[in-house]
Amino acid sequence: MDDDTGDIYLQRIPVGRLTSNCYIFGLKEAGRGLVIDPGGEPAALIEAVRASGLTITDIVLTHGHSDHIAALRDLQEATGGKVSIHAADADFLIGQGPVSSQFGISYRTPDPPDRRLADGDVIGSGGPELTVIHTPGHTPGSICLLAGAIIFTGDTLVRHGIGTTLMPGSSRRQLIESIRSRLLPLPDETLVYPGHGRPTSIGEERRQNRYLKA
Ligand SMILES: [Zn+2]
Ligand SMILES: [Zn+2]
Repeated sequence: MDDDTGDIYLQRIPVGRLTSNCYIFGLKEAGRGLVIDPGGEPAALIEAVRASGLTITDIVLTHGHSDHIAALRDLQEATGGKVSIHAADADFLIGQGPVSSQFGISYRTPDPPDRRLADGDVIGSGGPELTVIHTPGHTPGSICLLAGAIIFTGDTLVRHGIGTTLMPGSSRRQLIESIRSRLLPLPDETLVYPGHGRPTSIGEERRQNRYLKA
């Protein structure tokens, strides 16, 4: 358990060959929560959801790469959570048949998303609410998800690093501009839960992230 304080339930579960972080984020008293980036190991994630005791209302994708969506179909079926992804990344979910493959990872093709997101949208239904911050660069539809003093950053910002921009559709200039204009204005104490690796904070990245130096 990453955060067992107060009413917040927050669990980080690294999954798959690329150790992508899947998060279960909920409010204990309300008994409702969301899954962010079910990127692999579906049986482990379904068991973690069950152990959380939360009703999952939504499954949110920070972007459409396979290492963040490979267990999506299984979580859709197991939880009934509504799937949200930014409109510009929604095509990543289009199937190639019952099984899809992307960047060397094969996975069950998910159903189409329930919701195509835009900047400023709010996700959540009786549990925590996440505000969508569109941060293109790693992919055109990459988003960060802000909930008070917590932000989930996907592959946009990771601890002391940034997401790769070597993929088709990536732009390093746009990625750094997204971080500078949309994430660095947040308060230093904002906790950052990235798509890979350990959590950090906005203040830590402002001081230590060499990719963000002028
Ligand atoms: Zn990615
Ligand atoms: Zn990733």
